[in-house]
Formats: sequence, structure tokens, C-alpha cells
Amino acid sequence: MKNITSCPICESTKNKTFLKSRNFRINEQAFDLMECDSCTFRYTSPLPEVNEIGEYYDPENYVSHTGTKKGIVNKLFHAIRKITLNNKFKLLSKISNGKKHLDIGAGNGIFLGYMKEKGWNVSGVELDDVSRASIEKNTGLNIAKTVHDNNETEEFDVITMWHVLEHVYDLRKDLNTIKQKLKKDGSLIVAVPNCDSYDAEKYKKFWAAYDLPIHLYHFRPQNIKDLFDQYDMKIVDMKPMKFDSYYISLISEQYKNNQKSGIGVMLRGFYYGLVSNLKAKKGEYSSQIYIIKNK
Ligand SMILES: [Zn+2]
Repeated sequence: MKNITSCPICESTKNKTFLKSRNFRINEQAFDLMECDSCTFRYTSPLPEVNEIGEYYDPENYVSHTGTKKGIVNKLFHAIRKITLNNKFKLLSKISNGKKHLDIGAGNGIFLGYMKEKGWNVSGVELDDVSRASIEKNTGLNIAKTVHDNNETEEFDVITMWHVLEHVYDLRKDLNTIKQKLKKDGSLIVAVPNCDSYDAEKYKKFWAAYDLPIHLYHFRPQNIKDLFDQYDMKIVDMKPMKFDSYYISLISEQYKNNQKSGIGVMLRGFYYGLVSNLKAKKGEYSSQIYIIKNK
């Protein structure tokens, strides 16, 4: 474990504790959300070392990696994923000039496989050894372990990071490489939870998308703007991920009530997910997609 003493975006060492919370998946260990006095960015402290973070991923619960279909939450997750897959494909088709695509943090590889089926020229990056082997087996693609290991010589029309940036230890190293690999007029798509959302403010320390310490950073639109300014890049559009508010509210209800299932948890999760979407204006959704281009 190490304390994070300077802001990962602006490097200011002036900060305050915004919220005290804990790990709800594995061991109830306490973590703080720090808020930078200078740029307002919120980040987790202390952080496990890179080689310790794997212990905090619960293989039973981390559905986006394991693909298990046990339980109502997971069933719902899988049904929604089908719709989400198609929405992602439509978004990429709309914004991209070409079909050369890199997916960073490919997870179970379902999105990559889908894009390949749709005729895109896809490449992938996945850090987890088990997931990477499984994607290679299922798609026949070569998957790199990190973005730095990707040896494609041609630049990409579009690079996607779906719920990945909040997990990246060395932001600067990765973003420098990502910028190099993106065509000059290409698009970088970044999806991250938004701690300015109604559900974040309602659930506070129980908000499931804080996911401490797996989520190192807690981005809001202004933070994304500040971060990408440093790479001479800008947000050209923002889109909501409207299903995330239901999923996150449901898990937050589970944490808050210390209860895995139950009709009350289900109904409240659905209700507050809906309220979050209804109240949100642009930039205020539970999870946001940012479309980022060179300036
Ligand atoms: Zn800062």
C-alpha cells in the first residue's frame, strides 16, 4: 500500500479527504477519496501496489470479466450487454472515418469479437492473463498484454477504453502511447463512471462505482477535459450510458443494506437508477462516454 500524495492530473500536493469509504467486495478495508484543492480531481488513497490489486477483484462478482450467468443481477447485466454492444457498434460506425479499431481493456473480448464480426479490423489489449488467453481462443486474434506491447504499425481510426481509464496505474505512460497510436483525425472513446451523478450523491460512501481500491480515479467531465488538455486533445461530445445507473444503484443498495438480494433492494435499485437518468442533464449521468479528438 502506498499513500497518494499528489494529484494524478495536476500534480498539486494540496488536497482534502472528500469521503471515507471501504472495499465492499472482499475485505472491508478502509480507503479514502482525496479531492485535489487545485483542480478538484478525486482519487483513491492509499493504493495497493500494482502486483497487489488483483486480490481486490472478486472473480465471482466481477461479471464483466467472468461472464457467469448466476443470479438476477448477472442475468440483467447480460441482457443489457446485448443492447449495449449494438449501441457501441453504432457509435463507432457514426464517428469513425475508417474501420481500424483498438480496444484497450478488452475484458471478456465480446465487444472485440462483435466488431470483428461486423467487418472491422480489430486489435485488443488485455492485462489479465486468463482473460487474454480466453479472447485469443474465442476470436483467433492476437491480444497484447499492455498498450505498449501492441505492435501494429498502422495507426488506429478509433481507440476504445470502456470503463478502463479509472483502473490505469501509469496514466501518463499509457496516454502518451495511446496518442501516438491514434490517427491525427482519429477518435478516442473513454467511458468512465461520473461521481457528479445523482446516484453518486445519493449513495455517497456506498456508491458502487467508487469501487475502492479497484478504481484509482473518480472522473467528472471537467477532470477529463483537464487531463486531455495536457495531451493537446479535447472532448468533442459526451454521451450517457443509461443502463449503468440501474446496475450501479442496485449494487449500491446491496452494499448499503448489506444484503445480496431481496425485492426491496431490487426495487429501490431500479427506482433510483431511473431517477438518476431522469434528473441528469448532459454530463451528469452515472456513467459517461467521452469522445476525444486531437485539437
Ligand atoms: Zn489536481
